[in-house]
Amino acid sequence: MEECAYIGLGSNLGDRELKLLMAIAELGKLPGTKVTAVSLFYETEPVGGVPQDDFYNAAARVATALKPLELLDHLQRIETEVFKRVPTVRWGARSMDLDILMYGDLVCHSDRLTIPHPRLAERRFVLQPLADIAPDLVHPSLGRTVNELLAALPVAEKVVRI
Ligand code: ATP
Ligand code: CA
Ligand code: CA
Repeated sequence: MEECAYIGLGSNLGDRELKLLMAIAELGKLPGTKVTAVSLFYETEPVGGVPQDDFYNAAARVATALKPLELLDHLQRIETEVFKRVPTVRWGARSMDLDILMYGDLVCHSDRLTIPHPRLAERRFVLQPLADIAPDLVHPSLGRTVNELLAALPVAEKVVRI
Protein backbone atom coordinates (compact mmCIF):
# COMPACT_ATOMS: atom_id res chain seq x y z
CA MET A 1 0.00 0.00 0.00
CA GLU A 2 1.43 3.37 -1.02
CA GLU A 3 0.63 6.56 0.83
CA CYS A 4 1.09 10.15 -0.22
CA ALA A 5 3.27 12.05 2.26
CA TYR A 6 4.63 15.60 2.41
CA ILE A 7 8.15 16.35 3.65
CA GLY A 8 9.38 19.77 4.80
CA LEU A 9 13.05 20.49 4.07
CA GLY A 10 15.25 23.21 5.57
CA SER A 11 18.94 24.13 5.71
CA ASN A 12 20.89 27.16 6.94
CA LEU A 13 24.48 25.89 6.84
CA GLY A 14 26.78 25.65 3.84
CA ASP A 15 25.47 25.65 0.27
CA ARG A 16 21.79 25.69 1.13
CA GLU A 17 20.44 25.29 -2.41
CA LEU A 18 22.71 22.34 -3.15
CA LYS A 19 21.73 20.76 0.15
CA LEU A 20 18.02 20.96 -0.70
CA LEU A 21 18.67 19.41 -4.11
CA MET A 22 20.74 16.62 -2.53
CA ALA A 23 18.06 15.93 0.08
CA ILE A 24 15.40 15.62 -2.63
CA ALA A 25 17.63 13.10 -4.42
CA GLU A 26 18.00 11.18 -1.15
CA LEU A 27 14.19 11.04 -0.79
CA GLY A 28 14.04 9.52 -4.26
CA LYS A 29 16.49 6.80 -3.21
CA LEU A 30 14.39 5.60 -0.26
CA PRO A 31 12.99 2.09 -0.61
CA GLY A 32 9.49 1.99 -2.08
CA THR A 33 9.45 5.75 -2.48
CA LYS A 34 9.07 8.15 -5.42
CA VAL A 35 9.29 11.95 -5.34
CA THR A 36 6.14 13.14 -7.09
CA ALA A 37 6.34 16.93 -6.62
CA VAL A 38 8.80 19.55 -5.38
CA SER A 39 8.03 23.15 -4.40
CA LEU A 40 9.93 26.27 -5.28
CA PHE A 41 12.79 27.14 -2.94
CA TYR A 42 12.44 29.98 -0.41
CA GLU A 43 14.84 32.00 1.68
CA THR A 44 13.32 32.43 5.12
CA GLU A 45 14.17 34.12 8.37
CA PRO A 46 14.70 31.81 11.35
CA VAL A 47 11.92 31.52 13.93
CA GLY A 48 12.35 30.58 17.58
CA GLY A 49 14.71 33.32 18.72
CA VAL A 50 18.13 31.71 18.15
CA PRO A 51 20.38 34.17 16.21
CA GLN A 52 21.50 32.38 13.05
CA ASP A 53 21.64 32.67 9.28
CA ASP A 54 18.55 32.57 7.08
CA PHE A 55 17.25 29.20 5.92
CA TYR A 56 16.38 27.81 2.55
CA ASN A 57 13.11 25.87 2.77
CA ALA A 58 11.17 23.64 0.40
CA ALA A 59 8.51 20.93 0.47
CA ALA A 60 8.29 17.66 -1.41
CA ARG A 61 5.50 15.19 -2.04
CA VAL A 62 6.40 11.50 -2.02
CA ALA A 63 4.49 8.33 -2.79
CA THR A 64 5.83 5.80 -0.32
CA ALA A 65 5.33 2.25 0.86
CA LEU A 66 7.22 3.12 4.08
CA LYS A 67 5.21 3.28 7.30
CA PRO A 68 5.39 6.63 9.17
CA LEU A 69 8.03 5.51 11.70
CA GLU A 70 10.08 3.84 8.96
CA LEU A 71 9.97 7.09 7.00
CA LEU A 72 11.05 9.07 10.10
CA ASP A 73 13.94 6.63 10.69
CA HIS A 74 15.14 7.19 7.13
CA LEU A 75 14.80 10.99 7.35
CA GLN A 76 16.80 11.06 10.58
CA ARG A 77 19.43 8.77 9.04
CA ILE A 78 19.76 11.12 6.05
CA GLU A 79 20.12 14.15 8.38
CA THR A 80 22.87 12.45 10.34
CA GLU A 81 24.75 10.32 7.82
CA VAL A 82 24.44 12.33 4.61
CA PHE A 83 24.34 15.87 6.03
CA LYS A 84 26.33 15.28 9.24
CA ARG A 85 23.71 17.14 11.24
CA VAL A 86 24.97 17.66 14.79
CA PRO A 87 22.75 18.14 17.83
CA THR A 88 22.47 21.75 18.99
CA VAL A 89 20.03 23.99 20.84
CA ARG A 90 16.36 23.66 19.99
CA TRP A 91 15.60 25.45 16.73
CA GLY A 92 19.30 26.14 16.17
CA ALA A 93 21.28 26.06 12.93
CA ARG A 94 21.31 22.81 10.99
CA SER A 95 22.72 21.49 7.72
CA MET A 96 19.45 19.67 7.04
CA ASP A 97 16.08 19.30 8.73
CA LEU A 98 13.57 16.85 7.27
CA ASP A 99 10.11 16.82 8.84
CA ILE A 100 7.06 14.75 7.98
CA LEU A 101 4.38 17.39 7.44
CA MET A 102 1.51 15.07 6.54
CA TYR A 103 1.10 11.38 5.82
CA GLY A 104 -2.13 10.62 3.97
CA ASP A 105 -5.03 11.48 6.28
CA LEU A 106 -3.18 10.17 9.30
CA VAL A 107 -3.51 11.95 12.64
CA CYS A 108 -1.18 10.49 15.26
CA HIS A 109 0.76 11.50 18.33
CA SER A 110 3.52 9.52 20.00
CA ASP A 111 6.85 10.18 21.70
CA ARG A 112 8.71 10.17 18.41
CA LEU A 113 6.17 11.27 15.87
CA THR A 114 3.29 13.71 15.60
CA ILE A 115 1.41 13.90 12.30
CA PRO A 116 0.43 16.35 10.91
CA HIS A 117 3.55 18.21 12.03
CA PRO A 118 2.47 20.07 15.20
CA ARG A 119 3.71 23.54 14.11
CA LEU A 120 2.71 23.27 10.47
CA ALA A 121 -0.25 25.65 10.66
CA GLU A 122 1.70 28.52 12.25
CA ARG A 123 4.73 28.56 9.94
CA ARG A 124 4.85 30.53 6.73
CA PHE A 125 8.16 28.91 5.82
CA VAL A 126 6.34 25.55 5.77
CA LEU A 127 2.93 26.56 4.40
CA GLN A 128 4.27 28.67 1.50
CA PRO A 129 6.26 25.85 -0.15
CA LEU A 130 3.50 23.36 0.69
CA ALA A 131 1.01 25.64 -1.07
CA ASP A 132 3.10 25.37 -4.26
CA ILE A 133 2.47 21.63 -4.51
CA ALA A 134 -0.72 21.10 -2.46
CA PRO A 135 -2.81 24.29 -2.13
CA ASP A 136 -6.06 22.37 -1.66
CA LEU A 137 -4.72 19.71 0.69
CA VAL A 138 -6.94 19.62 3.78
CA HIS A 139 -5.33 19.48 7.20
CA PRO A 140 -7.03 16.38 8.65
CA SER A 141 -7.62 17.75 12.15
CA LEU A 142 -8.05 21.48 11.44
CA GLY A 143 -10.31 20.86 8.43
CA ARG A 144 -8.78 23.74 6.47
CA THR A 145 -6.76 23.77 3.28
CA VAL A 146 -3.12 24.76 3.05
CA ASN A 147 -4.13 27.93 1.20
CA GLU A 148 -6.65 28.80 3.92
CA LEU A 149 -4.07 28.25 6.66
CA LEU A 150 -1.57 30.40 4.77
CA ALA A 151 -4.09 33.22 4.34
CA ALA A 152 -4.90 33.11 8.07
CA LEU A 153 -1.30 33.61 9.26
CA PRO A 154 -1.07 36.69 11.46
CA VAL A 155 2.58 37.66 11.12
CA ALA A 156 4.52 38.13 7.93
CA GLU A 157 7.91 36.62 8.65
CA LYS A 158 10.25 36.83 5.69
CA VAL A 159 9.70 34.07 3.10
CA VAL A 160 11.19 35.06 -0.26
CA ARG A 161 11.19 32.94 -3.41
CA ILE A 162 14.73 32.41 -4.66
P1 ATP B 1 10.26 21.47 14.91
O1 ATP B 1 9.68 20.11 15.26
O2 ATP B 1 9.67 22.60 15.70
O3 ATP B 1 10.25 21.75 13.43
P2 ATP B 1 13.01 20.63 14.78
O4 ATP B 1 12.65 20.14 13.42
O5 ATP B 1 14.20 21.50 14.94
O6 ATP B 1 11.77 21.42 15.42
P3 ATP B 1 14.24 18.23 15.58
O7 ATP B 1 15.33 18.41 16.57
O8 ATP B 1 14.61 18.06 14.14
O9 ATP B 1 13.18 19.39 15.76
O10 ATP B 1 13.39 16.93 15.97
C1 ATP B 1 12.99 16.69 17.29
C2 ATP B 1 12.11 15.43 17.32
O11 ATP B 1 10.84 15.68 16.73
C3 ATP B 1 12.63 14.25 16.54
O12 ATP B 1 13.53 13.49 17.29
C4 ATP B 1 11.34 13.47 16.20
O13 ATP B 1 11.24 12.28 16.96
C5 ATP B 1 10.24 14.42 16.58
N1 ATP B 1 9.11 14.52 15.65
C6 ATP B 1 7.81 14.51 16.04
N2 ATP B 1 6.99 14.63 15.00
C7 ATP B 1 7.77 14.75 13.89
C8 ATP B 1 7.49 14.90 12.50
N3 ATP B 1 6.22 14.99 12.05
N4 ATP B 1 8.54 14.97 11.63
C9 ATP B 1 9.82 14.89 12.10
N5 ATP B 1 10.16 14.73 13.41
C10 ATP B 1 9.14 14.67 14.30
CA1 CA C 1 11.62 21.33 11.72
CA1 CA D 1 13.03 18.05 12.46
